[in-house]
Amino acid sequence: MIPYDYDLAVIGAGAAGMMAAVTAARKKANVLLLEKNDRVGKKLLSTGNGKCNFTNRSQDISCYHTECPDFLPVVLSNFTMEDTLRFFESIGISPYEKNGYFYPRSEQAASVSEAFFIELKHLGVTILTGQKNCEIKKQDLGFLICSGKKKWKVNKVILACGSKASRISGSDGSGYLLAERFGHTILPVVPALAALHTRNEAIKNIAGVRCQGRITLLALPARGKEQTLAKAEGELQFTKYGISGIPVFQVSRFASYALRKQQKVTAELDFFPEYSVEEWEQYIHQRKKNLKERRSEELFLGLLPEKLNFFLMEQAGILPKQKESERSGIDWQTWCRRMKQFRLPISGVNSFEEAQVCAGGVDLRELSSQMESKKVKGLYFAGEMVDVDGNCGGYNLQWAWSSGYVAGNAAAGDGDT
Ligand SMILES: Cc1cc2nc3c(=O)[nH]c(=O)nc-3n(C[C@H](O)[C@H](O)[C@H](O)COP(=O)(O)OP(=O)(O)OC[C@H]3O[C@@H](n4cnc5c(N)ncnc54)[C@H](O)[C@@H]3O)c2cc1C
Repeated sequence: MIPYDYDLAVIGAGAAGMMAAVTAARKKANVLLLEKNDRVGKKLLSTGNGKCNFTNRSQDISCYHTECPDFLPVVLSNFTMEDTLRFFESIGISPYEKNGYFYPRSEQAASVSEAFFIELKHLGVTILTGQKNCEIKKQDLGFLICSGKKKWKVNKVILACGSKASRISGSDGSGYLLAERFGHTILPVVPALAALHTRNEAIKNIAGVRCQGRITLLALPARGKEQTLAKAEGELQFTKYGISGIPVFQVSRFASYALRKQQKVTAELDFFPEYSVEEWEQYIHQRKKNLKERRSEELFLGLLPEKLNFFLMEQAGILPKQKESERSGIDWQTWCRRMKQFRLPISGVNSFEEAQVCAGGVDLRELSSQMESKKVKGLYFAGEMVDVDGNCGGYNLQWAWSSGYVAGNAAAGDGDT
């Protein structure tokens, strides 16, 4: 019998690490939870604008992204959205659903973090915060964990250190180094769920403007044709450097990878996605007839925010203040198309600090479906540090809960369910 100090050490007390620790402790494992921050669950506090959008009713697999898509259904079906709701009830968090997005009934992310903390304490998990530089060494049997002057012998380890996104909340990429030391491959890590920067400097004139629309992300490789990478619809937000908003976040991971490959990336904005180009041209033609008294710049009043309308006119080379009699000099077709196919050259994606998540991470091909390393027996992974990123809408947390549950369950000795 090996005298282990703990059955399991979980490194990182974010969403995935806390879920793994609770799951293993509920199965009677003796768990040590090490966190570099001075508290557990820090990133959770800022999720969902402080309300924590912890899962989503629609669990289409296309809402998750990875190099290894076959891996996802196995883990996600082991701990589903329904399991998440049941688990949350079990720690006292009742859900509140809005358009399929789930939040705690309190609408406070802090209550999720606090409920996990209470449950961890109740289960007798040893929580040590402020553990900034722990080292993990594989031994013949189990692992040796060293943090400062302290050492623990543990049977199994779960790495749940998050990514590089939002460093302020503790995830600084140090988990990738721990994984690399065990021989794991880290697939390129890039910012995802982030705003896009454009080379069109005039964009600053419409900073603060918001409108509904569709973004189509296009990439032109050094050789070959322009390709559509992704599309998303919703509220577009203009900033002094580019574009933001949920649809922009959804496509940003694709921009990150294309720019990394030195491809020319363009965002094509459609401010009227409900019309085809032909329908739109017809509609404007009719509107011109119906609203004869309007100046050219007044024609779109009620259709687009005023600042955006002027901006698009300027960008189309149409001088504002043209009178009705002067409308004939306008290239209406160009202007109409501009509103359906306004192209912005993309120069970059917001930094890791400002991104909500990272794409890339530990290669799933090196893990079993129980989230255990195929290289080092007894070593498991959970959460964002592996190569999975989700869309906005509760998918990243659902991945943290599912993978945390699967790793915690398997590490506690019941991995074959
Ligand atoms: C502003 C913002 C809003 C978001 N909103 C949502 C949302 O509403 N819904 C959603 O689904 N997702 C949201 N996300 C994404 C979601 O928060 C993350 O995907 C999720 O928290 C990842 O969980 P994790 O446990 O894998 O990593 P993290 O939550 O990052 O936790 C990792 C933990 O490990 C610790 N750690 C790191 N390295 C070490 C080390 N070497 N030793 C010890 N500890 C270490 C870190 O301090 C951290 O506490 C949001 C993210 C941000 C930044």
